[in-house]
Amino acid sequence: MQSIKKYCVIVASVFAFIHLPLKAVEQQTEKNPEFVVENGKTIILSTKLANPKPIVVNKKTYHWVTHPNDTTRKIAILAIPYYTKPSLVRLENGDAVEIVQGNYKKEAIQASPSKVKPNPKNQERIKKERDEANAIYSNYSQTRLWDSAFAYPMQSKITSAYGNARTFNGEVKSYHSGTDFRAAIGTEIFASNRGKVVIAKNRFLAGGSVVLDHGEGVFSMYYHCSEIKVQVGQIVEKGDLIALSGATGRVSGPHLHFGILVRGAQVDPLDFITQVNGLFASN
Ligand SMILES: [Zn+2]
Repeated sequence: MQSIKKYCVIVASVFAFIHLPLKAVEQQTEKNPEFVVENGKTIILSTKLANPKPIVVNKKTYHWVTHPNDTTRKIAILAIPYYTKPSLVRLENGDAVEIVQGNYKKEAIQASPSKVKPNPKNQERIKKERDEANAIYSNYSQTRLWDSAFAYPMQSKITSAYGNARTFNGEVKSYHSGTDFRAAIGTEIFASNRGKVVIAKNRFLAGGSVVLDHGEGVFSMYYHCSEIKVQVGQIVEKGDLIALSGATGRVSGPHLHFGILVRGAQVDPLDFITQVNGLFASN
């Protein structure tokens, strides 16, 4: 009771990385509670303590919030930013989280030169749009708007995974901050979960953009849309039609870019969905 010695990590997250049989992972977690997570991924801790201390990882404080499916537990959703170097993070209770480099691929993209090397006016626009988005993302909303599993925004082939190290037109370097779904122009895009619309506009790099605030620092984003069906301030339900896919912004062709941001870090959205949905499967 006095310490938070009994964090329990959602087994799937450990399981996904060390590829041991489930039983072995459980035993290891009992004896030696060290969690292994790749940069760019999400890890969910769980406790039964009434007043656990906040978790601090790399100077960022993560608060415990209610478990969406178990009133006896609290959870903390930790997002490991993509550029985190391999390291061992010691939690307050003595447990350790080992951050390892994910095995991300390299990818070369060809896009319109004006989008890859924007002129000064467009650079100004990009900065303005980035500042505006960052102000929205720094706004931590206490109210969780969802109470069920997250869904994919469409059922389609993944054409580019999260985390790919990218070059644009052979020079500009970046990493892929979301997951791309193959989508002909006009394909319907659905809200991944219940949330509040906080961005619904055309932007220089992201093109037609919808961003939903799900509460507690979790946002989902849908980019390169041809048409936006929602307005800022609106609450959308999971599965609501929010936009149609397109080829707007910095793209090499039509697709949906789907992203998840947790406490300011762009994490692997499909991994996030797997981790969070595990909270519903485990009870
Ligand atoms: Zn993308």
